[in-house]
Amino acid sequence: MGHIVMKFGGTSVATASRMLSVAEIVRSRLDRQPLVVVSAVGVSEPGESKITDQFESMAELAHAHKPFEENLDIIRSKHKNVLKELGLPWKTVDQTWKKLIKVLVNVDRPYREFLDEIFSFGERLSSNIITALFNSKGIPARCVKVEELGIRTNEKFQDATVPEELEGQVLAGLRKEKKVLVIPGFVGHTADGRITTLGRGGSDYTAALVGASFGVDEIQIWTDVSGMRSVDPRLIPDAERLDCISFDEAKELAYFGARVLHPKAIEPAMRKNIPVVILNTFQQDAPGTTIRNESVKQNKVIKAIANRTGAYRLNIESTRMLGSSGYMARIFNIFAKHETDIEVMATSEVSVSLTVDNPRDLDKVIKELEEFSNVSLDKGKTIICVVGEGMRHTPGVSGRVFSTLGTAGVNVELISQGGSEINITFMVDDKDSERAIKALYYACIS
Ligand code: ADP
Ligand code: ASP
Ligand code: MG
Repeated sequence: MGHIVMKFGGTSVATASRMLSVAEIVRSRLDRQPLVVVSAVGVSEPGESKITDQFESMAELAHAHKPFEENLDIIRSKHKNVLKELGLPWKTVDQTWKKLIKVLVNVDRPYREFLDEIFSFGERLSSNIITALFNSKGIPARCVKVEELGIRTNEKFQDATVPEELEGQVLAGLRKEKKVLVIPGFVGHTADGRITTLGRGGSDYTAALVGASFGVDEIQIWTDVSGMRSVDPRLIPDAERLDCISFDEAKELAYFGARVLHPKAIEPAMRKNIPVVILNTFQQDAPGTTIRNESVKQNKVIKAIANRTGAYRLNIESTRMLGSSGYMARIFNIFAKHETDIEVMATSEVSVSLTVDNPRDLDKVIKELEEFSNVSLDKGKTIICVVGEGMRHTPGVSGRVFSTLGTAGVNVELISQGGSEINITFMVDDKDSERAIKALYYACIS
Protein backbone atom coordinates (compact mmCIF):
# COMPACT_ATOMS: atom_id res chain seq x y z
CA MET A 1 0.00 0.00 0.00
CA GLY A 2 1.27 3.44 -0.89
CA HIS A 3 1.56 6.77 0.81
CA ILE A 4 -1.33 8.67 2.34
CA VAL A 5 -1.91 12.21 3.55
CA MET A 6 -3.74 12.50 6.85
CA LYS A 7 -5.15 15.93 7.67
CA PHE A 8 -6.41 16.60 11.17
CA GLY A 9 -8.73 19.60 11.51
CA GLY A 10 -9.01 21.99 14.44
CA THR A 11 -11.66 19.86 16.09
CA SER A 12 -9.29 16.86 16.03
CA VAL A 13 -6.48 18.75 17.74
CA ALA A 14 -8.56 20.83 20.16
CA THR A 15 -7.48 19.14 23.40
CA ALA A 16 -4.67 16.98 24.75
CA SER A 17 -6.84 13.86 24.73
CA ARG A 18 -7.85 14.41 21.10
CA MET A 19 -4.21 14.88 20.17
CA LEU A 20 -3.46 11.56 21.84
CA SER A 21 -6.13 9.94 19.64
CA VAL A 22 -4.47 11.54 16.61
CA ALA A 23 -1.14 9.96 17.59
CA GLU A 24 -2.80 6.54 17.86
CA ILE A 25 -4.58 6.91 14.53
CA VAL A 26 -1.31 7.86 12.84
CA ARG A 27 0.53 5.00 14.56
CA SER A 28 -2.02 2.52 13.27
CA ARG A 29 -1.32 3.66 9.70
CA LEU A 30 2.47 4.01 9.79
CA ASP A 31 2.78 1.26 7.19
CA ARG A 32 1.27 3.73 4.71
CA GLN A 33 4.03 6.29 5.36
CA PRO A 34 1.64 9.10 6.21
CA LEU A 35 2.30 12.77 5.66
CA VAL A 36 0.40 14.59 8.40
CA VAL A 37 -1.20 18.01 7.93
CA VAL A 38 -2.57 19.83 10.97
CA SER A 39 -4.84 22.79 11.60
CA ALA A 40 -4.55 25.21 14.47
CA VAL A 41 -5.74 23.99 17.87
CA GLY A 42 -9.54 24.09 17.71
CA VAL A 43 -12.49 24.78 19.94
CA SER A 44 -12.87 22.36 22.85
CA GLU A 45 -15.93 23.82 24.57
CA PRO A 46 -19.13 25.29 23.17
CA GLY A 47 -18.94 29.05 23.12
CA GLU A 48 -15.14 29.17 23.05
CA SER A 49 -13.85 31.21 20.15
CA LYS A 50 -11.61 29.61 17.52
CA ILE A 51 -7.89 30.17 17.95
CA THR A 52 -7.68 31.49 14.39
CA ASP A 53 -10.39 34.03 15.29
CA GLN A 54 -8.38 34.98 18.37
CA PHE A 55 -5.36 35.54 16.15
CA GLU A 56 -7.47 37.77 13.93
CA SER A 57 -8.73 39.94 16.82
CA MET A 58 -5.20 40.20 18.14
CA ALA A 59 -3.80 41.18 14.72
CA GLU A 60 -6.45 43.88 14.35
CA LEU A 61 -5.55 45.41 17.71
CA ALA A 62 -1.80 45.11 17.23
CA HIS A 63 -1.94 46.69 13.78
CA ALA A 64 -3.95 49.60 15.19
CA HIS A 65 -1.36 50.05 17.99
CA LYS A 66 -3.98 49.05 20.57
CA PRO A 67 -3.34 46.73 23.54
CA PHE A 68 -3.57 43.08 22.49
CA GLU A 69 -2.20 41.37 25.60
CA GLU A 70 -5.56 39.93 26.61
CA ASN A 71 -5.83 37.96 23.36
CA LEU A 72 -2.21 36.93 23.58
CA ASP A 73 -2.86 35.59 27.10
CA ILE A 74 -5.85 33.53 25.91
CA ILE A 75 -3.76 32.02 23.10
CA ARG A 76 -0.83 31.38 25.43
CA SER A 77 -2.89 29.66 28.11
CA LYS A 78 -4.74 27.46 25.59
CA HIS A 79 -1.41 26.12 24.29
CA LYS A 80 0.15 25.99 27.74
CA ASN A 81 -2.69 23.85 29.07
CA VAL A 82 -2.51 21.43 26.15
CA LEU A 83 1.27 21.07 26.58
CA LYS A 84 0.92 20.54 30.32
CA GLU A 85 -1.70 17.84 29.88
CA LEU A 86 0.50 16.10 27.34
CA GLY A 87 3.48 16.29 29.71
CA LEU A 88 5.43 18.36 27.19
CA PRO A 89 7.51 21.42 28.13
CA TRP A 90 6.80 25.00 26.96
CA LYS A 91 10.17 24.70 25.17
CA THR A 92 8.25 22.76 22.49
CA VAL A 93 6.76 25.99 21.16
CA ASP A 94 9.12 28.56 22.65
CA GLN A 95 10.98 29.43 19.45
CA THR A 96 7.75 29.84 17.50
CA TRP A 97 6.24 31.86 20.32
CA LYS A 98 9.21 34.26 20.37
CA LYS A 99 8.86 34.71 16.63
CA LEU A 100 5.18 35.56 17.09
CA ILE A 101 6.05 38.23 19.66
CA LYS A 102 8.53 39.77 17.21
CA VAL A 103 6.06 39.71 14.33
CA LEU A 104 3.34 41.31 16.47
CA VAL A 105 5.29 44.55 16.73
CA ASN A 106 6.32 44.58 13.07
CA VAL A 107 3.15 46.38 12.03
CA ASP A 108 4.53 48.77 9.49
CA ARG A 109 3.03 47.02 6.46
CA PRO A 110 -0.40 46.47 4.90
CA TYR A 111 -2.86 44.96 7.35
CA ARG A 112 -3.77 42.01 5.14
CA GLU A 113 -0.14 40.92 4.88
CA PHE A 114 0.37 41.38 8.60
CA LEU A 115 -2.77 39.36 9.35
CA ASP A 116 -1.65 36.38 7.29
CA GLU A 117 1.69 36.21 9.04
CA ILE A 118 -0.08 36.32 12.41
CA PHE A 119 -2.65 33.72 11.24
CA SER A 120 0.16 31.32 10.36
CA PHE A 121 1.16 31.00 14.01
CA GLY A 122 -1.93 28.94 14.84
CA GLU A 123 -0.79 26.12 12.56
CA ARG A 124 2.90 26.64 13.43
CA LEU A 125 2.19 26.15 17.12
CA SER A 126 -0.08 23.12 16.65
CA SER A 127 2.43 21.45 14.31
CA ASN A 128 5.19 21.98 16.90
CA ILE A 129 3.04 20.30 19.55
CA ILE A 130 1.92 17.37 17.39
CA THR A 131 5.52 16.70 16.31
CA ALA A 132 6.76 16.65 19.91
CA LEU A 133 3.85 14.43 20.92
CA PHE A 134 4.58 11.93 18.13
CA ASN A 135 8.25 11.79 19.11
CA SER A 136 7.35 11.33 22.78
CA LYS A 137 5.15 8.39 21.78
CA GLY A 138 7.89 6.73 19.73
CA ILE A 139 6.67 7.90 16.31
CA PRO A 140 9.71 9.55 14.70
CA ALA A 141 8.45 12.86 13.34
CA ARG A 142 9.75 16.15 12.03
CA CYS A 143 7.91 19.46 11.89
CA VAL A 144 8.07 21.10 8.48
CA LYS A 145 8.92 24.79 8.75
CA VAL A 146 6.77 27.29 6.91
CA GLU A 147 9.83 28.31 4.87
CA GLU A 148 10.22 24.72 3.62
CA LEU A 149 6.66 24.27 2.44
CA GLY A 150 7.05 25.38 -1.15
CA ILE A 151 3.36 26.31 -1.22
CA ARG A 152 3.93 29.23 -3.60
CA THR A 153 0.71 31.18 -3.91
CA ASN A 154 -0.63 34.25 -5.66
CA GLU A 155 -0.83 37.47 -3.65
CA LYS A 156 -4.46 37.18 -2.64
CA PHE A 157 -3.90 37.45 1.10
CA GLN A 158 -6.47 35.57 3.25
CA ASP A 159 -7.59 33.58 0.23
CA ALA A 160 -4.45 32.64 -1.63
CA THR A 161 -4.27 29.92 -4.27
CA VAL A 162 -1.35 27.98 -5.74
CA PRO A 163 -1.22 28.39 -9.54
CA GLU A 164 -1.72 24.99 -11.16
CA GLU A 165 1.73 24.98 -12.74
CA LEU A 166 3.36 25.39 -9.32
CA GLU A 167 1.45 22.62 -7.57
CA GLY A 168 4.26 20.14 -8.30
CA GLN A 169 6.71 22.23 -6.25
CA VAL A 170 4.86 21.70 -2.99
CA LEU A 171 7.32 20.24 -0.46
CA ALA A 172 9.63 19.51 -3.41
CA GLY A 173 12.76 19.51 -1.25
CA LEU A 174 11.44 16.96 1.23
CA ARG A 175 10.73 13.84 -0.73
CA LYS A 176 13.15 11.37 0.77
CA GLU A 177 12.49 11.67 4.49
CA LYS A 178 11.98 8.60 6.66
CA LYS A 179 10.31 10.45 9.53
CA VAL A 180 6.64 11.37 9.59
CA LEU A 181 6.48 14.93 8.30
CA VAL A 182 4.11 17.12 10.28
CA ILE A 183 2.97 19.96 8.04
CA PRO A 184 1.27 23.15 9.17
CA GLY A 185 -1.90 23.55 7.11
CA PHE A 186 -3.52 26.77 5.85
CA VAL A 187 -0.23 28.57 5.14
CA GLY A 188 1.60 29.49 1.93
CA HIS A 189 3.93 32.21 0.74
CA THR A 190 4.33 34.57 -2.19
CA ALA A 191 7.22 34.42 -4.68
CA ASP A 192 9.12 36.96 -2.55
CA GLY A 193 8.54 35.08 0.71
CA ARG A 194 5.63 36.95 2.30
CA ILE A 195 3.31 34.59 4.16
CA THR A 196 -0.19 34.06 2.79
CA THR A 197 -3.11 31.95 3.99
CA LEU A 198 -5.33 29.82 1.82
CA GLY A 199 -8.79 30.86 3.04
CA ARG A 200 -10.57 29.90 6.26
CA GLY A 201 -10.73 26.13 6.57
CA GLY A 202 -7.86 26.00 4.08
CA SER A 203 -5.86 23.19 5.73
CA ASP A 204 -7.93 20.79 3.61
CA TYR A 205 -6.44 22.52 0.56
CA THR A 206 -2.93 22.08 2.00
CA ALA A 207 -3.64 18.36 2.36
CA ALA A 208 -4.77 18.14 -1.26
CA LEU A 209 -1.74 20.10 -2.51
CA VAL A 210 0.65 17.91 -0.55
CA GLY A 211 -1.11 14.73 -1.69
CA ALA A 212 -1.14 15.76 -5.34
CA SER A 213 2.50 16.81 -5.30
CA PHE A 214 3.64 13.57 -3.65
CA GLY A 215 1.32 11.45 -5.76
CA VAL A 216 -0.16 9.68 -2.73
CA ASP A 217 -2.81 6.96 -2.99
CA GLU A 218 -5.34 8.68 -0.74
CA ILE A 219 -5.97 12.01 0.96
CA GLN A 220 -7.66 11.49 4.32
CA ILE A 221 -9.51 14.38 5.97
CA TRP A 222 -9.98 13.54 9.66
CA THR A 223 -12.67 15.63 11.32
CA ASP A 224 -15.50 15.47 13.85
CA VAL A 225 -18.16 13.81 11.66
CA SER A 226 -18.21 10.40 9.97
CA GLY A 227 -18.08 11.65 6.44
CA MET A 228 -20.12 14.02 4.38
CA ARG A 229 -23.84 13.92 5.07
CA SER A 230 -26.68 14.60 2.72
CA VAL A 231 -27.43 17.79 4.71
CA ASP A 232 -25.43 19.75 7.29
CA PRO A 233 -25.88 17.62 10.45
CA ARG A 234 -26.44 20.77 12.50
CA LEU A 235 -29.74 21.17 10.63
CA ILE A 236 -30.76 17.51 10.36
CA PRO A 237 -28.75 15.49 12.88
CA ASP A 238 -29.70 12.12 11.40
CA ALA A 239 -29.07 13.05 7.76
CA GLU A 240 -27.48 9.99 6.17
CA ARG A 241 -23.80 9.64 5.36
CA LEU A 242 -22.88 9.73 1.68
CA ASP A 243 -20.80 6.64 1.07
CA CYS A 244 -19.26 7.73 -2.20
CA ILE A 245 -19.66 10.88 -4.29
CA SER A 246 -17.96 12.26 -7.37
CA PHE A 247 -15.50 15.15 -7.34
CA ASP A 248 -18.07 17.23 -9.26
CA GLU A 249 -20.76 16.61 -6.67
CA ALA A 250 -18.33 17.34 -3.83
CA LYS A 251 -17.23 20.56 -5.50
CA GLU A 252 -20.76 21.94 -5.62
CA LEU A 253 -21.51 20.87 -2.06
CA ALA A 254 -18.25 22.22 -0.63
CA TYR A 255 -18.55 25.48 -2.52
CA PHE A 256 -22.09 26.11 -1.36
CA GLY A 257 -21.59 25.46 2.30
CA ALA A 258 -20.73 21.87 3.25
CA ARG A 259 -17.93 23.16 5.46
CA VAL A 260 -16.61 19.65 6.13
CA LEU A 261 -14.38 20.01 3.05
CA HIS A 262 -12.84 23.19 1.68
CA PRO A 263 -13.83 23.69 -1.98
CA LYS A 264 -10.26 24.38 -3.08
CA ALA A 265 -9.20 20.93 -1.89
CA ILE A 266 -10.97 19.24 -4.75
CA GLU A 267 -9.15 20.44 -7.88
CA PRO A 268 -5.61 19.24 -7.03
CA ALA A 269 -6.95 15.81 -6.00
CA MET A 270 -9.19 15.58 -9.04
CA ARG A 271 -6.40 16.44 -11.49
CA LYS A 272 -4.27 13.61 -10.13
CA ASN A 273 -7.26 11.34 -9.61
CA ILE A 274 -6.48 10.79 -5.92
CA PRO A 275 -9.48 9.80 -3.78
CA VAL A 276 -10.31 12.09 -0.85
CA VAL A 277 -11.75 10.26 2.14
CA ILE A 278 -13.52 12.04 5.00
CA LEU A 279 -13.14 10.23 8.32
CA ASN A 280 -14.02 10.73 11.97
CA THR A 281 -11.25 11.15 14.56
CA PHE A 282 -13.73 10.26 17.30
CA GLN A 283 -14.96 7.07 15.62
CA GLN A 284 -11.96 5.93 13.73
CA ASP A 285 -13.43 2.70 12.46
CA ALA A 286 -16.65 4.23 11.15
CA PRO A 287 -16.86 4.23 7.37
CA GLY A 288 -16.55 7.72 5.96
CA THR A 289 -17.20 9.31 2.59
CA THR A 290 -15.03 8.62 -0.42
CA ILE A 291 -14.85 11.32 -3.07
CA ARG A 292 -13.45 10.12 -6.37
CA ASN A 293 -13.61 10.55 -10.10
CA GLU A 294 -16.40 8.29 -11.10
CA SER A 295 -19.93 8.96 -10.09
CA VAL A 296 -21.76 6.34 -8.09
CA LYS A 297 -25.29 5.62 -9.15
CA GLN A 298 -27.90 5.40 -6.46
CA ASN A 299 -31.65 5.34 -6.45
CA LYS A 300 -32.03 8.91 -5.35
CA VAL A 301 -31.73 11.53 -8.02
CA ILE A 302 -30.97 14.22 -5.46
CA LYS A 303 -28.14 13.13 -3.18
CA ALA A 304 -27.45 16.13 -1.01
CA ILE A 305 -28.25 19.72 -0.14
CA ALA A 306 -25.76 22.39 0.86
CA ASN A 307 -26.56 25.82 2.17
CA ARG A 308 -24.78 28.99 3.06
CA THR A 309 -26.37 31.83 4.94
CA GLY A 310 -25.41 35.49 5.00
CA ALA A 311 -24.98 35.87 1.24
CA TYR A 312 -25.31 39.19 -0.58
CA ARG A 313 -27.41 39.68 -3.67
CA LEU A 314 -26.72 42.44 -6.13
CA ASN A 315 -29.22 43.54 -8.79
CA ILE A 316 -27.77 45.49 -11.66
CA GLU A 317 -30.14 47.11 -14.13
CA SER A 318 -29.47 49.17 -17.17
CA THR A 319 -31.89 50.03 -19.94
CA ARG A 320 -29.24 52.16 -21.58
CA MET A 321 -27.00 49.16 -22.20
CA LEU A 322 -29.79 46.99 -23.55
CA GLY A 323 -28.43 44.68 -26.24
CA SER A 324 -24.90 46.05 -25.93
CA SER A 325 -22.41 43.23 -26.25
CA GLY A 326 -19.77 44.74 -23.97
CA TYR A 327 -22.11 45.09 -21.02
CA MET A 328 -21.36 41.78 -19.30
CA ALA A 329 -17.62 42.15 -19.91
CA ARG A 330 -17.72 45.53 -18.23
CA ILE A 331 -19.49 44.09 -15.19
CA PHE A 332 -17.09 41.15 -14.92
CA ASN A 333 -14.06 43.43 -15.19
CA ILE A 334 -15.22 45.49 -12.24
CA PHE A 335 -15.64 42.40 -10.06
CA ALA A 336 -12.24 41.07 -11.16
CA LYS A 337 -10.54 44.38 -10.45
CA HIS A 338 -11.78 44.31 -6.85
CA GLU A 339 -11.11 40.58 -6.41
CA THR A 340 -14.76 39.93 -5.61
CA ASP A 341 -15.94 36.55 -6.82
CA ILE A 342 -19.35 36.15 -8.38
CA GLU A 343 -21.01 32.93 -7.25
CA VAL A 344 -24.50 32.48 -8.67
CA MET A 345 -25.82 34.59 -11.47
CA ALA A 346 -28.99 35.03 -13.49
CA THR A 347 -29.43 37.43 -16.37
CA SER A 348 -32.14 38.92 -18.53
CA GLU A 349 -31.93 41.54 -21.27
CA VAL A 350 -32.11 44.44 -18.85
CA SER A 351 -30.90 43.12 -15.54
CA VAL A 352 -28.27 40.96 -13.95
CA SER A 353 -28.71 39.41 -10.54
CA LEU A 354 -25.80 37.82 -8.78
CA THR A 355 -24.44 36.81 -5.41
CA VAL A 356 -21.08 37.34 -3.77
CA ASP A 357 -19.86 35.85 -0.52
CA ASN A 358 -17.09 38.30 0.20
CA PRO A 359 -18.46 41.79 0.75
CA ARG A 360 -15.09 43.32 1.60
CA ASP A 361 -14.81 45.54 -1.48
CA LEU A 362 -18.45 45.51 -2.44
CA ASP A 363 -18.89 49.24 -1.92
CA LYS A 364 -16.13 49.91 -4.45
CA VAL A 365 -17.73 47.46 -6.90
CA ILE A 366 -21.13 49.12 -6.50
CA LYS A 367 -19.69 52.61 -6.95
CA GLU A 368 -18.18 51.66 -10.30
CA LEU A 369 -21.28 49.77 -11.45
CA GLU A 370 -23.39 52.82 -10.65
CA GLU A 371 -21.55 54.78 -13.30
CA PHE A 372 -23.64 52.96 -15.92
CA SER A 373 -26.37 51.01 -14.04
CA ASN A 374 -28.91 51.13 -11.27
CA VAL A 375 -27.68 48.89 -8.48
CA SER A 376 -29.49 47.55 -5.43
CA LEU A 377 -28.14 45.32 -2.70
CA ASP A 378 -30.03 42.77 -0.60
CA LYS A 379 -28.49 41.16 2.46
CA GLY A 380 -29.59 38.28 4.64
CA LYS A 381 -29.89 35.71 1.88
CA THR A 382 -29.16 31.98 1.91
CA ILE A 383 -27.87 30.10 -1.11
CA ILE A 384 -29.17 26.56 -1.33
CA CYS A 385 -27.64 24.03 -3.68
CA VAL A 386 -29.29 20.71 -4.50
CA VAL A 387 -26.85 18.17 -5.92
CA GLY A 388 -26.88 14.76 -7.60
CA GLU A 389 -25.24 13.20 -10.65
CA GLY A 390 -28.57 11.53 -11.44
CA MET A 391 -30.15 14.92 -12.15
CA ARG A 392 -28.29 15.06 -15.45
CA HIS A 393 -30.67 12.72 -17.23
CA THR A 394 -33.83 12.89 -15.16
CA PRO A 395 -36.64 15.16 -16.28
CA GLY A 396 -38.87 16.88 -13.76
CA VAL A 397 -36.35 17.38 -10.95
CA SER A 398 -36.63 21.16 -10.90
CA GLY A 399 -40.41 20.87 -10.96
CA ARG A 400 -40.28 18.71 -7.87
CA VAL A 401 -37.82 20.96 -6.05
CA PHE A 402 -39.77 24.15 -6.69
CA SER A 403 -43.20 22.72 -6.05
CA THR A 404 -41.91 21.38 -2.70
CA LEU A 405 -40.67 24.85 -1.84
CA GLY A 406 -43.93 26.41 -3.00
CA THR A 407 -45.94 24.09 -0.78
CA ALA A 408 -43.67 24.99 2.15
CA GLY A 409 -44.42 28.67 1.48
CA VAL A 410 -40.82 29.55 0.62
CA ASN A 411 -40.19 32.37 -1.82
CA VAL A 412 -37.39 31.42 -4.23
CA GLU A 413 -35.14 33.91 -6.02
CA LEU A 414 -32.28 33.77 -8.46
CA ILE A 415 -32.43 30.26 -9.83
CA SER A 416 -29.43 28.83 -11.62
CA GLN A 417 -28.51 25.44 -13.01
CA GLY A 418 -24.82 25.01 -13.78
CA GLY A 419 -23.63 23.68 -17.13
CA SER A 420 -22.81 20.31 -15.58
CA GLU A 421 -26.52 19.86 -14.80
CA ILE A 422 -25.75 18.10 -11.53
CA ASN A 423 -27.04 20.91 -9.38
CA ILE A 424 -29.82 23.42 -9.00
CA THR A 425 -28.86 26.48 -7.02
CA PHE A 426 -31.17 29.21 -5.78
CA MET A 427 -31.58 31.80 -3.10
CA VAL A 428 -34.05 32.30 -0.27
CA ASP A 429 -34.30 34.71 2.65
CA ASP A 430 -32.18 33.62 5.63
CA LYS A 431 -35.36 33.38 7.71
CA ASP A 432 -36.81 30.76 5.31
CA SER A 433 -33.69 28.67 4.84
CA GLU A 434 -34.21 26.06 7.54
CA ARG A 435 -37.82 25.50 6.44
CA ALA A 436 -36.72 25.21 2.82
CA ILE A 437 -33.96 22.69 3.53
CA LYS A 438 -36.10 20.52 5.78
CA ALA A 439 -38.94 20.48 3.25
CA LEU A 440 -36.55 19.48 0.45
CA TYR A 441 -34.82 16.87 2.57
CA TYR A 442 -38.04 15.11 3.55
CA ALA A 443 -39.53 15.35 0.06
CA CYS A 444 -36.48 14.39 -2.01
CA ILE A 445 -33.84 12.58 0.09
CA SER A 446 -34.97 10.86 3.25
P1 ADP B 1 -12.31 20.65 10.98
O1 ADP B 1 -11.98 21.41 12.20
O2 ADP B 1 -12.03 19.18 11.12
O3 ADP B 1 -11.74 21.21 9.71
P2 ADP B 1 -14.90 21.72 10.17
O4 ADP B 1 -15.65 22.40 11.24
O5 ADP B 1 -14.20 22.57 9.17
O6 ADP B 1 -13.90 20.69 10.86
O7 ADP B 1 -15.87 20.73 9.36
C1 ADP B 1 -16.65 19.78 10.02
C2 ADP B 1 -18.07 20.30 10.21
O8 ADP B 1 -18.69 20.53 8.95
C3 ADP B 1 -19.00 19.35 10.88
O9 ADP B 1 -18.89 19.40 12.28
C4 ADP B 1 -20.39 19.79 10.39
O10 ADP B 1 -21.02 20.59 11.35
C5 ADP B 1 -20.07 20.69 9.19
N1 ADP B 1 -20.83 20.29 7.99
C6 ADP B 1 -21.52 21.14 7.18
N2 ADP B 1 -22.14 20.50 6.19
C7 ADP B 1 -21.84 19.19 6.34
C8 ADP B 1 -22.18 18.00 5.63
N3 ADP B 1 -22.97 18.03 4.54
N4 ADP B 1 -21.70 16.83 6.08
C9 ADP B 1 -20.92 16.77 7.17
N5 ADP B 1 -20.56 17.84 7.89
C10 ADP B 1 -21.01 19.04 7.50
N1 ASP C 1 -7.06 27.34 11.19
C1 ASP C 1 -7.66 27.76 9.95
C2 ASP C 1 -9.09 28.19 10.16
O1 ASP C 1 -9.58 28.15 11.27
C3 ASP C 1 -7.50 26.74 8.86
C4 ASP C 1 -8.21 25.43 9.07
O2 ASP C 1 -8.70 25.16 10.18
O3 ASP C 1 -8.27 24.65 8.12
O4 ASP C 1 -9.74 28.58 9.24
MG1 MG D 1 -12.35 22.48 8.17
